[in-house]
Amino acid sequence: MTGSVRVPTPSNEPVRDYAPGSAEVVRLRAEIDRVAGQVRELPHVINGERFFAGQQEAVVSPHEHARVLGHITPAGDKQVRAAIDASLAARRDWSMTPWWERAAIFLRAADLVTGKYRDELLATTMLGQSKTYHQAEIDAACELADFFRYNAYSAAAIYDQQPASDPGQWNIMDHRGLEGFVLAITPFNFTAIAGNLPSTPALMGNTVVWKPSEKSALSSDVVMRVFEEAGLPPGVINLVHGDGQSIASQALASEHLAGVSFTGSTAVFRNLWKTTAQHLDTYRAYPRLVGETGGKNAIIAHPSADPEALLVALVRGAFEYQGQKCSAASRAYIPRSVWRRLEDRLADTVANLHIGDVTEHETFVGAVIDETSCTRLEQAFTEAKSLDSHRLLAGGSVRRETGWFVDPTVFVTDDPTAFTMSQEFFGPLLTVHVYDDADWSSILTLADTTSPYALTCSVFATERTAISEALTVLRDTAGMTYVNDKPTGALMGKQSFGGGRASGTNDKTGSPLALQRWVSGRYIKENMNPDLDWNYPYMGTAGH
Ligand code: NAD
Repeated sequence: MTGSVRVPTPSNEPVRDYAPGSAEVVRLRAEIDRVAGQVRELPHVINGERFFAGQQEAVVSPHEHARVLGHITPAGDKQVRAAIDASLAARRDWSMTPWWERAAIFLRAADLVTGKYRDELLATTMLGQSKTYHQAEIDAACELADFFRYNAYSAAAIYDQQPASDPGQWNIMDHRGLEGFVLAITPFNFTAIAGNLPSTPALMGNTVVWKPSEKSALSSDVVMRVFEEAGLPPGVINLVHGDGQSIASQALASEHLAGVSFTGSTAVFRNLWKTTAQHLDTYRAYPRLVGETGGKNAIIAHPSADPEALLVALVRGAFEYQGQKCSAASRAYIPRSVWRRLEDRLADTVANLHIGDVTEHETFVGAVIDETSCTRLEQAFTEAKSLDSHRLLAGGSVRRETGWFVDPTVFVTDDPTAFTMSQEFFGPLLTVHVYDDADWSSILTLADTTSPYALTCSVFATERTAISEALTVLRDTAGMTYVNDKPTGALMGKQSFGGGRASGTNDKTGSPLALQRWVSGRYIKENMNPDLDWNYPYMGTAGH
């Protein structure tokens, strides 16, 4: 039966507008009010059972930090142990479940995301992670559903790959899940990534311990309920809240660790890798390590670039979701001739971006995720302001009274190697280096070598030869190169994301490449006509 199964061809979930006064926004507003009016208990979910006991940590709204939306209770050794045990106990049955039945659960999850749970996912993402209507919609509804649908489709293509067989024998590829459990650790900034990281290995027959970010616990709780309602059996994905370091150190010490699926900062992923290396002698198998990490994404403009298109890319690429996208633009290289036509408009546009409560329609920029983030950006502003090489063009302040608000900020620097051109700050900070038009070729090399990251970049030019040259020189600079477009907003099935160098293992989340990492193949050869004589012809009659 499974050989002829075809997964429905996916298409990207249409993005809703949420125009003021529309029916969809009236419904969503009611859900926002409901979520804002509650203080939720956000339990661990282990083997289908909920646990909520111990010291409570508040989950608050970044743009209104006095508003407590819920509590988590950080997992201790006991809960982590139980989550690992539940994963291991569920593994056999789950891995033997026909792949199309596993896929059906995630296709059902996709429809729950875009239907019954859409408003709740959006409301919790808006309030808990400070995303605007549009940013929450493209993440928590559209991309999350796209992940589930495209992954199911790609899984079918993987299971379809079967070896050739000569007459008298049959070769089969058994696409097994990994032996052991997978640890999925997810970042705060995308509800879609939070749902995708544990579900991708699960789709491919693995069982998972999932530690969501404590800063996105509210929406992660909804994602977990979606998995359960879609029919995911108990124990397949086990959610534990709490401190990443203590949960990871216990999970990584288990001899049954089969893989780590991580998205977050480079430093944390490097620590996870080092820790697994320390435990290498004790593992039953080599764990697969998949990590998508930081970025320092450049927009590089050629003298032939269209300043209007460039302005849009700079504003959206650098400041949507407060610059808290791994793919956000945080450095730009702009030729003097284009800069003359752009500078005042960029300064003016950025200075007038509306910052505030994300439930207000005019808001373009919400709050950064927490106090630590606010302080990190404030320190960067202070340091940049103190340098002769930097000139503040817009922003440069933070306000903490009601929420963690950081002004969208642009510096202009004549030092292309400055810290603002190489380090990730993960917030609304863009630094522009203005170069002489004649230096285009050397600017490409400079952009390639300035930062350790290689996630996304954008090239703006209308001359074809300039685009060609950029694509050649920047071949290893980014896992995703955009031409005349902003460096953010990858669409599943069209541009799956991932980067190299310090940006990660480049396994292209949401693509067949990513699914393949969670498969450990077994070839089965069946001989229909076993040999009955151990001699070979070259031996003549010597063996007789
Ligand atoms: P983070 O590294 O602080 O946290 C990510 C996760 O790791 C969280 O669940 C956190 O609790 C956990 N964690 C923190 N310290 C840990 C430790 N010592 N051991 C184990 N786990 C630990 O990242 P964040 O602030 O949630 O997200 C922002 C970062 O993620 C940025 O660097 C951004 O570029 C990156 N990111 C990358 C991609 C990508 O696809 N490349 C996508 C989204 C975010």
